[in-house]
Amino acid sequence: MAKRDYYEVLGVDKNASASDIKRAYRKLAMKYHPDKNKDDKEAENKFKEASEAYEVLSDPQKRQKYDQYGHAGVEGSFSNGGFSWDDFTHASDFSDIFGEGGLGSIFESFFGGFGGSGRRSARQNNRGEDLQISLSLTLEEIAKGVEKKIKINVMETCEKCNGTGSEDGKVRTCPQCHGTGRVRQTTRSLFGHMQTVATCPSCNGEGKIIRNRCPVCHGEGRVNKPKTVTVKIPAGVSEGQYVRLRGEGNVGKRSGSRGDILVLVKEKEHKLFERQDANLLLEFPISFSQAALGDEVKVPTLSGKVKMKIPAGTQSGKVFRLRGQGLPHVNSSYRGDLYIKVVVVTPRKLRSEEKELFEKLSKYDSEKRLHPGKNLFSKLKDIFA
Ligand SMILES: [Zn+2]
Ligand SMILES: [Zn+2]
Repeated sequence: MAKRDYYEVLGVDKNASASDIKRAYRKLAMKYHPDKNKDDKEAENKFKEASEAYEVLSDPQKRQKYDQYGHAGVEGSFSNGGFSWDDFTHASDFSDIFGEGGLGSIFESFFGGFGGSGRRSARQNNRGEDLQISLSLTLEEIAKGVEKKIKINVMETCEKCNGTGSEDGKVRTCPQCHGTGRVRQTTRSLFGHMQTVATCPSCNGEGKIIRNRCPVCHGEGRVNKPKTVTVKIPAGVSEGQYVRLRGEGNVGKRSGSRGDILVLVKEKEHKLFERQDANLLLEFPISFSQAALGDEVKVPTLSGKVKMKIPAGTQSGKVFRLRGQGLPHVNSSYRGDLYIKVVVVTPRKLRSEEKELFEKLSKYDSEKRLHPGKNLFSKLKDIFA
């Protein structure tokens, strides 16, 4: 489709002044604005056509080329050979035309829909904060992995002002930084003048200033609300590790992007097991006779009881290993082991029959099977040190 003449599009003559052009465009833009003409393809096309014409005719250099060569003279200045939304959405263009008319925020949401990549460098400053919560888990939960629902207070977009922070939608370009969000500062030093670029103090780098703040969010564009998030904890995590829930944290000020939620893993103390990396340690009491004669016992694991053989003549403090009965490693099929330290328990009280038997037994002690010597028991933890 052949392009219409830009002057014709805006309805101005070739000698129109810059302000004539601006006025004409503003009139058309308001009339054909997509927010006012929902699902009206023709209006959208008219709006784009007018915007393209305005982009060329409002720029003295482009206008001159256009006057000289027609459409061919300015074709190259558009990305993809067409109208570039990014070029157009510089904040300065915007407020210039719409700042006083109160259309600024509507325009932003409209252009947002086109996903212009260079649209808002200032917006990155608005990213919402990350939130941190801690989650206490039992060893049983860590062994299998677990899904938990967590209630947390998060900053959400203010519904009253739709995240703009403005009561009436009026937003103007920051006069100090002209919408760039940055200011140059000249400082004097020993070496002479130095120029640095800093975040604009007037607008905090946002490039715009709100006239009347929203009474609900006081201009922040967000309010605190409770929300429930689901977090999946993989098997094998350990104390101090994080699970990051991307984009679930605070929404940024005035429609900034969302931060994350960091779920910090805490480990609840287990009444039986002590954890050492992926291994578990357990102290298991046995009797004199079990130690001397041997026995088959049932020992607890995180997934129920298992049988274990105590050989005859087992010494107190002996450590047995049950392979694969520890914890899994995160992202690996390897599992740790369960170390069981058996401890021979001396009875505190004896029934009369027991006393008789021990007295009989004591006669054999004279065979001097017991020898003094160095402590043969090493602390269990020494094994892993
Ligand atoms: Zn608000
Ligand atoms: Zn500023």
